[in-house]
Amino acid sequence: MTSLHKASTQDFVLSIEGLTVSFDGFKAVNDLSLYVEEQEIRVIIGPNGAGKTTVLDLICGRTKATEGSIKFRGQELTRLREHEIVHVGVGRKFQNPSIYEDLTVFENLEISFPRGRNVWGALTFRRDEEVINKVTEIAEMIFLGDKLDSQAELLSHGQKQWLEIGMLLIQDPELLMLDEPVAGMSVSERQKTASLLQRITQDRSVLVIEHDMQFVEDIADRVTVLHQGKVLSEGSMERVKADPKVVEVYLGH
Ligand code: ADP
Ligand code: MG
Repeated sequence: MTSLHKASTQDFVLSIEGLTVSFDGFKAVNDLSLYVEEQEIRVIIGPNGAGKTTVLDLICGRTKATEGSIKFRGQELTRLREHEIVHVGVGRKFQNPSIYEDLTVFENLEISFPRGRNVWGALTFRRDEEVINKVTEIAEMIFLGDKLDSQAELLSHGQKQWLEIGMLLIQDPELLMLDEPVAGMSVSERQKTASLLQRITQDRSVLVIEHDMQFVEDIADRVTVLHQGKVLSEGSMERVKADPKVVEVYLGH
């Protein structure tokens, strides 16, 4: 240890400071600061166009920041490329599931299993026991244990969403980001997704964008309300719901 105390940004899994992105002069994210702790489920809410998806795009490197810093366990992400950000342990699920419809559940999980970086690893890769065990474990976790041999296109919308979460989990990210994971799900699928997220934060942090307030209430440790690219309010769901600024923005939409 080189210092008596850690720098404050290293106490968080994710520290975003002064983050701004300007699209032709329009600041979709405007001087945003956000800190996510170990094992935390943070939910970002806010009206359409608030900049929620853009924040995830910035973290995963799909969009380049105009200004500001995004540190993941102290490492600056704004200088890394998308695949490098995945490699340091940040996984991202997009709004529409990007699974392989022609492949089975097993195969979708298998191809997502990390294979190491060298080309020989990919060529000599076999369905050894380690892979089978991990795929089976993840499939059970995402409620698809009895669907391993089903073709992905035959799954329900909710099951496809779970499969994509599984494809991220098998890579063991330390920060998992999900954009509207329960959109289009039934009430019972939403409840199962909530319990899934609670289970996976035993050893990782989760950053979720969501509109369904019941779901947010069920899962969020803390809520960040985004409005016009800035943090409007932050804290427990209870506190945020009672904030007059939040009430005004939601009633105004
Ligand atoms: P949210 O997810 O909160 O609904 P977004 O992050 O998708 O909002 O968008 C925030 C704002 O930024 C919107 O006005 C959107 O039109 C704009 N925006 C997002 N991405 C781009 C882009 N690549 N180029 C130009 N404008 C963008
Ligand atoms: Mg969005």
